[in-house]
Amino acid sequence: MIDVHCHLEQKDYNKDREHVIEQCAKELKAMISSCAHLLTRKDYELGLEMHQKYRDFVFLSMGVHPIYIKKATPEKIDRAVTLVESYKEDIVAIGEVGLDYYWVKDSGLRIKQQDLFKRFIGLAKKLELPLVIHCRDAIEDTLNILEENAAGIKVMMHLYSYRKHLQRLLDNGYSISIGPSISTSKDLKKIARDMPLDRIMLETDSPWFGFGKRNTPLAIRQVAEEIAKIKRCGFEEIWKAAGANAVKFFNLPLQI
Ligand SMILES: [Zn+2]
Repeated sequence: MIDVHCHLEQKDYNKDREHVIEQCAKELKAMISSCAHLLTRKDYELGLEMHQKYRDFVFLSMGVHPIYIKKATPEKIDRAVTLVESYKEDIVAIGEVGLDYYWVKDSGLRIKQQDLFKRFIGLAKKLELPLVIHCRDAIEDTLNILEENAAGIKVMMHLYSYRKHLQRLLDNGYSISIGPSISTSKDLKKIARDMPLDRIMLETDSPWFGFGKRNTPLAIRQVAEEIAKIKRCGFEEIWKAAGANAVKFFNLPLQI
């Protein structure tokens, strides 16, 4: 009952953010909002405000999403790293960070993405925080970089969908978070089937993945129902196990 990856600071919630959070608090134990939009200080600050108001309910991860690489000057990156570090007491993870070759085709920019990614892996190491990874069309490079640079750090692949690499992921000890696309993706259904339950967490990536409408963290219920069907076990079992996995992975001060 923890949405481990959503974006509550997005403008989609500007009109009713508190209402959404309060509705979610009736059903969920916690949610982790991912503030990763390059250097819009406001993005980080809004996250912080939510965390301060809903202390044991809204948690935060912070990083710089690889999609912003075009705008990421060295000065801006330095500033983001310093800012995230200054919030170290208020965040439970570094992320989302990683590689996105779907939106970024230019090879020079891809190299820059890799450098940015390594920089944040270094920060996760320094702060002893887990990593939340975004990876799109770049699984080989993502895994290579993680294997070379992130030894000893807990890793969660968000919206993971690469079936062929599942064994490698398992061997590395990584976890995955499964989102609403499980209802339409055959690959993801097979990943959920083959992934041991103690490595699975639930996410929505809200406000996105609402199938045409704005999504909220409450949609993890449907994700858990779908996983229960696939794994042929009870909904409660998935609901509880995924929640307990999140508490352990992010070291949240909660009891499931
Ligand atoms: Zn996200």
